[in-house]
Amino acid sequence: MMGSLTIAGLGPGAEALITPEVSAALAEATDVFGYGPYVARVAPRAGLTLHPSDNRQEVQRAFDAMRLAAEGRHVVVVSSGDPGIFAMASAVFEALEGSPQWQALPIRVLPGVTAMLAAAARAGAPLGHDFCAINLSDNLKPWETIEKRLRLAAEADFAIALYNPRSVSRPDDLERAFEILTQAGCGARIVIFAQAVTTADERIISLPLSEATPDMADMRTLVIVGNSQTRRVGRWIYAPRRAS
Ligand code: SAH
Repeated sequence: MMGSLTIAGLGPGAEALITPEVSAALAEATDVFGYGPYVARVAPRAGLTLHPSDNRQEVQRAFDAMRLAAEGRHVVVVSSGDPGIFAMASAVFEALEGSPQWQALPIRVLPGVTAMLAAAARAGAPLGHDFCAINLSDNLKPWETIEKRLRLAAEADFAIALYNPRSVSRPDDLERAFEILTQAGCGARIVIFAQAVTTADERIISLPLSEATPDMADMRTLVIVGNSQTRRVGRWIYAPRRAS
């Protein structure tokens, strides 16, 4: 019997933001793979085997998932947010590149609500004009590349969503990122710190970059740096649709 491999996004945290398509895939799954805290969001039931694993085990996890799918199981690999944004979908395709025997497997990628969109909606509409997303983690790319992208994003006047702004192993990176943006003339721009969005621990703070400090972010925070036109209206923050 032919198995299947589904790579699904669980959204930012709230149950209501899991799409019906993802819920249906989980209801039909025989096996769920993913980083421990994400697998913990899937309700256990008879007939379902949960396979939690450590962070940074992405490619091994993808191999294990494909192997079981090839044996006829219905496997779902879960990510938080969207599986295509700094998450498992790319890891699965990386594993598939080196595994031609599995390239005929039925594979589906099911989108989810990424942290950036959930955070933006809480603040108002800070992504209403052109924007970019940068992963501040330098696990998989040199820090020089991150610096260059920050400088050019500032120069291009994009709103900038920063994923993975902080971690225990890289406590100073966000401070360096803010320095680069300040040097690029962004000191007056509005910065939004959106922590644990759509969970019970949600906290949203916004202030000018010149007053922002790195300790306002943790591993569950998405940072949005507004563009030069981003402004407040009442308690909301938005980017006007027009730019000069
Ligand atoms: N695939 C995920 C992103 C994984 S990278 C997605 O699409 O959302 C992990 C980073 O996502 C975290 O460091 C944080 O910056 C952000 N993030 C994930 N969930 C979040 C949440 N509920 N609130 C705020 N940021 C979140």
